[in-house]
Amino acid sequence: MIPAAPLTMQPRRWQQAWREAVREPRELLALLGLGEVALGVSDAAAAQFPLRVPRSFVARMRHGDPHDPLLRQVLPLDAELRPVPGFGLDAVGDGAAKAGHGVIHKYEGRALLVTTGSCAVHCRYCFRRHFPYAEETAAANGWREAIAAVRADPSIEEVLLSGGDPLSLATAKLVELTDALRAIPHVRRLRIHTRLPIVLPERVDAELCDWLASLPWPVALVVHANHANEFDADVDTAMRALRDTGAVLMNQAVLLRGVNDDVDALAALGERGFAAGVLPYYLHQLDRVAGAAHFEVDDATALALHAALVARQSGYLVPRLVREVAGDASKRPMTGHGDGRITPSVA
Ligand SMILES: *Cc1c(COP(=O)(O)O)cnc(C)c1O
Ligand code: SF4
Repeated sequence: MIPAAPLTMQPRRWQQAWREAVREPRELLALLGLGEVALGVSDAAAAQFPLRVPRSFVARMRHGDPHDPLLRQVLPLDAELRPVPGFGLDAVGDGAAKAGHGVIHKYEGRALLVTTGSCAVHCRYCFRRHFPYAEETAAANGWREAIAAVRADPSIEEVLLSGGDPLSLATAKLVELTDALRAIPHVRRLRIHTRLPIVLPERVDAELCDWLASLPWPVALVVHANHANEFDADVDTAMRALRDTGAVLMNQAVLLRGVNDDVDALAALGERGFAAGVLPYYLHQLDRVAGAAHFEVDDATALALHAALVARQSGYLVPRLVREVAGDASKRPMTGHGDGRITPSVA
């Protein structure tokens, strides 16, 4: 008998898992033993931004629980179609910040490459759900324009791969990019923002890890999990493999009503992440994007939750609470005064 190869050695297993993602709201409900109950599931919302969720992520949802925190992140609801004042199409000003094809250079020293519009999971709160990424990806034309933009600006020390999800690209495509970046002397760090190791841990295969280990720069790999239940044994294995490449692992989360807006859930997320070798980075206040208003947690509540976390957890397990404000020079840290007042803008 030929012993089965370890998970991470099987080539192209992740593409198959990607293709097999659940895309029908009714199938998702059936898998969870939920009827078409009064969940407010919406075909019209799914037509705007389709449901997409990998089966291994579905397997981490609680059977029969319409309030499951993982389910809430992906289920298209009627509530998304209600226009809410203040919730628009380009909540963070990315439309105005493009420096070149698929390059967003908003902050000092860091250029963000919109590598692709694809994601393995479609998160209903995503601020990118309305952004015209199909025409804006840096990977187009063999990365030529993106590389030219980075090369032309010596102030860019860090290249940040984002999207969409950069790890939805084939590893060979990523190799193509980093081979070109190697020739640019002012590039000193690489950062990757990806949700794939969480939602589709099969993506962390030997080919990906070989690529990461071969890079000449320190690598920061920022994953995205919003709830402790997103971690399981396969995610632990993926995180270990990523750490073994020398990458530093961090997590960013979005504060989401009905998902993680209580102090126990946030504390558990920090602890579970750390058990997998991931330190918390940011806890984002929701970007006010049309269709996501039902996820919003008001600032006073967000600050109170954060203060409660600070009071009970080791400092390194507490993420920084931030909001992105169009035109600011950085993500804006939120700090309270214990009375619900918020520090005035420092922009
Ligand atoms: C969030 C973001 C970054 C990274 O900001 P950090 O505070 O360094 O994490 C860089 N560029 C853009 C366009 C961003 O939106
Ligand atoms: S993985 Fe990230 S970019 Fe993709 S839909 Fe979710 S939040 Fe948006």
